[in-house]
Amino acid sequence: MSATSESRVAGPEPRCSVCGSRDVFAKIEGKYYCFKCGSRLVIEHSEKIVEEYVKKYIGDLR
Ligand SMILES: [Zn+2]
Repeated sequence: MSATSESRVAGPEPRCSVCGSRDVFAKIEGKYYCFKCGSRLVIEHSEKIVEEYVKKYIGDLR
């Protein structure tokens, strides 16, 4: 590891806000997430969007 390269971020390393992993993959709403937690969050989020979309445009499916 080289000590000459300056880090872009002066503060502490970003870490996943769920599991604490340093392997940060995405920043969502100001919080960092690793791939595992981030993708799970995105899936949950998109499921909510789909649910709302169905309710709004298709209505109750029962
Ligand atoms: Zn994580």
